Amino acid sequence: MVVSKEEIHKIIENYDPKKITIATVCSHSALQTFYGARQEGFKTLGIAIGSIPKFYDAFPKAKPDEFLVLNNYAEILDKADELIKKNVILIPNGSFVEYMGAEIFRDKLKIPTFGNRKVLSWESDRNKQREWLEGGGVRMPAVIKHPRDIKNPVIVKYFGAKGGRGFFVAKNKEEFYNKIGSTGQKFTMQEYVLGTRYYPQFFASPFKRDNAMQTKSGSVQLMSIDRRDETNIDEMYKMGTIEDMRKQGFVPSFVVTGNVPVVLRESLLPEIFDFAEKTCDKAKELFDGMIGPFCLEGVYTDQLKFYVFEISGRIVAGTNPFISGSPYSALTFDKQMSTGRRIAEEIRYAISINQLKEVIS
Ligand code: AMP
Repeated sequence: MVVSKEEIHKIIENYDPKKITIATVCSHSALQTFYGARQEGFKTLGIAIGSIPKFYDAFPKAKPDEFLVLNNYAEILDKADELIKKNVILIPNGSFVEYMGAEIFRDKLKIPTFGNRKVLSWESDRNKQREWLEGGGVRMPAVIKHPRDIKNPVIVKYFGAKGGRGFFVAKNKEEFYNKIGSTGQKFTMQEYVLGTRYYPQFFASPFKRDNAMQTKSGSVQLMSIDRRDETNIDEMYKMGTIEDMRKQGFVPSFVVTGNVPVVLRESLLPEIFDFAEKTCDKAKELFDGMIGPFCLEGVYTDQLKFYVFEISGRIVAGTNPFISGSPYSALTFDKQMSTGRRIAEEIRYAISINQLKEVIS
């Protein structure tokens, strides 16, 4: 059972809005989250696993005011009272959710959290992602149910494969059977979309903010766009074909090591805004709405069509190149605005209109 909104709202009724502490796990996008929270006037708390990360000393503006050191992620469940006493609002990031486990985060963590925690069930299951996005009218690569139906190249994705390890492309049924092996691992198969990858990052608000595009349930902004550097697939072509490399024992992987800032042709912006709006509207219908950052991860074909292969319903590390803002946020805000800072700004705004409950669950 998802931790109920009512339970969390009872906790924040006792919070002193002047003493809120923004907390997250020291990894992923934490530096911009702490820096942004401080810029918006909040106290910050870093949750560290094992020990305080030494390199944080090199980033004094982002180093949190205090640390809570735990032996493992699950230990945070025992620290709920301590954190609540400090008026903590947790910011879920990729490391936090992945290492703690989406289910534990959603069902057990009784600490006020920014955003709608119901989104975790929808983003962590590829079938539910499809129900949400395709159901809302967002274009996605077609699913291929059976190897005999492979007419064009497909990408085979193993369930829960970290960094896309072992994902492979097959151009026909024979190639599929040659590569699938006999591990019996669960997988999904979708049409391989040939084109250029883009990862536009949005921010959904339940409020009708006046520097945002309005949706049925609030408003949405485009914060930034990146492309991920994926090892080893991005560089494999330098050594020959992927097939040659496979024969030599190299397995292609899609492990993300960094992010590159990109912008889109202006003529392509209407469609991604349309997809963002559809994502928000459908989220409202399915699970009370999208609150905060999300990223539509996809490919543009040479027909200039965007296919979304995945959604992240929280801050993505692809926002990290934009700590001092992006070409898009420069057109939206009067101050340098990262997604980390935007989260704090949303909390600050919600407090100012006495609506904190709208953005916390
Ligand atoms: P995912 O785990 O779905 O994010 O996929 C990992 C990586 O595989 C992506 O970042 C892309 O590089 C690639 N990829 C995933 N789906 C597709 C697709 N349908 N067509 C082409 N490339 C894809």
